Amino acid sequence: MSLIERESEVFFHTYKRIPLEIDRAEGVYVYDTSGKEYLDFFAGLAVNALGHHHPKIIDAIEKQIRRYMHLSNYYIQDVQIELVERLAHAANMKKVFLSNTGAEANEGAMKLARKWGAGKNKKTIVGFTNSFHGRTFAALSVMGNEKYASGITPLVGDTAVLPFNDVDALHKNLNTHSCAVIFEAIQGEGGIVEASEEFVETLVKLRDKHDFLIIADEIQCGLGRTGSFFGYEHYGLEPDIVTVAKSLGGGLPLGAILGNNTVGDVWQPGDHGTTFGGNPVACAAGCVVLDEIENRLMKNAEITGRHLFARLHEIKQKFPAIIEEVRGTGLMAGLKLIREGDGYVTAMRERGVLINCTNKDVLRFLPPLIVTKEHCDEVIGKLSEVLKEL
Ligand code: PLP
Repeated sequence: MSLIERESEVFFHTYKRIPLEIDRAEGVYVYDTSGKEYLDFFAGLAVNALGHHHPKIIDAIEKQIRRYMHLSNYYIQDVQIELVERLAHAANMKKVFLSNTGAEANEGAMKLARKWGAGKNKKTIVGFTNSFHGRTFAALSVMGNEKYASGITPLVGDTAVLPFNDVDALHKNLNTHSCAVIFEAIQGEGGIVEASEEFVETLVKLRDKHDFLIIADEIQCGLGRTGSFFGYEHYGLEPDIVTVAKSLGGGLPLGAILGNNTVGDVWQPGDHGTTFGGNPVACAAGCVVLDEIENRLMKNAEITGRHLFARLHEIKQKFPAIIEEVRGTGLMAGLKLIREGDGYVTAMRERGVLINCTNKDVLRFLPPLIVTKEHCDEVIGKLSEVLKEL
């Protein structure tokens, strides 16, 4: 039996796997078992910000493994504190909780919000259409995506989903009983859709009026990817709670909930917890990730991102019958097509470039933040061939 057949035999069929057997990965490249090289503009779904096999990450992990790999959150661990201090400082936030994944961070953020709202008669947590916050019940409850929630209702009560970027809907539905809103400054899985300035401004005005929390889900668009440390910084927003994950652990599972002064003292011992969240090996890698992002990669995302977008706009002009819109910023880019995109993803893979298609018709580019203009040019060159051919 081939690996693909063995996978299908034994795994629940939750993933539509790509028929590619990866042997190893280095920098911005991955290699399959036949030795073929692929330029990786998918980066493990926005996880491998420093590329693959980064020597500083490997050193930090090796060093930490020799000290200890797991103690539990009963104990004080210097490496966790180091990471959390840096994260809180970079985010200008007061308190941090470490999780393993993005969905867990959002789940915890919503629990934190509910606890804050308890006693104030504020319960409703509001999300937006086209968003993605993970696969737990609470996350699904604020996404309004039938596809993901089909057959598993009822979801979490006292939640609502409003149309994204619809200012009237905010005015009509947010009130003194609203506990929190959760949103992505740039929706990733939804097809690289940016929040409008007016939408964010209205959220802030209504927060002042009704006193609810703003939760910024920065799991995909945060940590330097858009050229600023957080995606919401492009709007001048100051959220109450921020969630991060994906690239934070340098390829190891690590997420975080960050809270400002408003929520800083809400949780008391026993209110929330996890066995593995904040694993010290992941934290050691995370310290390297934060260093590299702050010192170098955030700037690269801005500069190289500008080049990538200039080239994507060129290609849009060249293929107006196929490309409807160029979306995103920094190194988080989407090409909204007039037709479905899976065929283009396959054709790019055959030419040695990994990208993906989200929301059926958006080609998504999430390269490691170490990419150069030359890498972008190579991708655009191949994309041009593929668009001409199909
Ligand atoms: N939030 C956003 C914006 C995401 O893009 C994702 C994953 O794609 C998640 C949350 C869920 O993260 P995880 O898959 O680590 O649970």
